[in-house]
Amino acid sequence: MKALDELTFDNRFARLGDAFSTSVLPEPIAEPRLVVASDAALALLDLDAAQAEEPVFAELFSGHKLWAEADPRAMVYSGHQFGSYNPRLGDGRGLLLGEVYNDAGEHWDLHLKGAGQTPYSRMGDGRAVLRSSIREFLASEALHALGIPTSRAGCVIGSSTPVWREKQERAAMVLRLAQSHVRFGSLEYFFYTKQNDQLKELADHVLSLHYAECLEQPEPYLAMFRTIVERQAELIAKWQAYGFCHGVMNTDNMSILGITFDFGPFAFLDDFDQNFICNHSDHEGRYSFSNQVPIGQWNLSALAQALTPFISVEALREALGMFLPLYQAHYLDLMRRRLGLTTAEDDDADLIARLLQLMQNSAVDYSLFFRRLGEESADIAVSRLRDDFVDMLGFDAWAQMYIARIAREPAANQEDRRARMHAVNPLYILRNYLAQRAIEAAEQGDYSEVRRLHQVLCTPFEEQPGMDSYAQRPPDWGKHLEISCSS
Ligand code: AMP
Ligand code: MG
Repeated sequence: MKALDELTFDNRFARLGDAFSTSVLPEPIAEPRLVVASDAALALLDLDAAQAEEPVFAELFSGHKLWAEADPRAMVYSGHQFGSYNPRLGDGRGLLLGEVYNDAGEHWDLHLKGAGQTPYSRMGDGRAVLRSSIREFLASEALHALGIPTSRAGCVIGSSTPVWREKQERAAMVLRLAQSHVRFGSLEYFFYTKQNDQLKELADHVLSLHYAECLEQPEPYLAMFRTIVERQAELIAKWQAYGFCHGVMNTDNMSILGITFDFGPFAFLDDFDQNFICNHSDHEGRYSFSNQVPIGQWNLSALAQALTPFISVEALREALGMFLPLYQAHYLDLMRRRLGLTTAEDDDADLIARLLQLMQNSAVDYSLFFRRLGEESADIAVSRLRDDFVDMLGFDAWAQMYIARIAREPAANQEDRRARMHAVNPLYILRNYLAQRAIEAAEQGDYSEVRRLHQVLCTPFEEQPGMDSYAQRPPDWGKHLEISCSS
């Protein structure tokens, strides 16, 4: 473990120079206080959770203090927002403070979101509100605990600084950790501004630091792009399998590393709904739950465009063609596991599709269904789950197929089946109403609920005594909450 002043900085992105980012100092927020910290995320910096309680911790992550070796910078990028190209975005309210090198030999970007205005703020105030900061914190750590690649969150620092959204709120900052903050839109910016040398420099930076294994391939840029396609396919398969809706899949919010990144009005599904739109500003449903798959490919094609100076169009097209089959293979694999299947049969895709259609028609709770399916032997479980379906006969037909399918699995006792299924089917997920309850308490200065919810979500697959209420479907007030897009 290290003391806070012992972090070792190695600011590789900042060293690329002023074409890529602009030096900006964080603007402190008033009366900083720790809202919540993640021990697991802080451990990536060799820090322990007790350090988060020291006053200097809140000062460092609220812009009041800065390490001498930090080199805070706003990164420039552009991107496709809702399908249209926006030529200039960039960090309008977040700063890359620097890169920390940990004892395990990994570099982690320290990014402070809500750190004040930058040359990229456009009309914005450079701030993030407590509500959205808590949501980003909880989602990052919850996704990680589910095994879904994501940026991490070290802490949220609250303040008394007022900010105006639909109403007056309080400013906060999140410490975001990721191994890179380069987005698809970072490369798009240099491509569309025709800064070819900088585009190559940035591509080489990403290649050598994050896709070094591709350097040994005959065509390193192509190998990198193929790996990005693979990672994106796997990531989106995980989102779909676990009911995560990102909400704003603009190319400036797509990480070059293939991790979940830049949380806005995201949601985990309560009731299963293919057409669910979590972002209330997304009137056309461009980023609806089921559209995440084609949009994943669309975003990759936007990135491919920016890489045309280095890779032939035919090769890019061929790599893009891998996305859907890879996605489908990962998704099928994850869903088989969620159903407790260890072998593959041709009809499994059909078994899954039929189940989802039945769940859709009856608004069945997506997470609890799988958890309950593993709780007891297949025949008993389906007889108990039957009541959740309006089309009971339809469900019975599915249940017969499922029981027959389980019977063709290598024999395993129910105890093994349950352990195997519970290990992939979470009991606790970050439901919007749970986040909302924690946010409302935090806005009144009570952080105990955010902290408790974070703890529960850290081990989502393990039943935790006394935490039954966190595994419940939403109460009436908590269904279809309108999550404001403003953050
Ligand atoms: P986001 O929707 O958070 O991904 O942000 C899209 C773009 O708007 C990015 O360039 C952000 O930096 C910028 N932005 C969002 N909110 C603010 C804000 N309050 N002040 C300044 N820039 C912002
Ligand atoms: Mg963004």
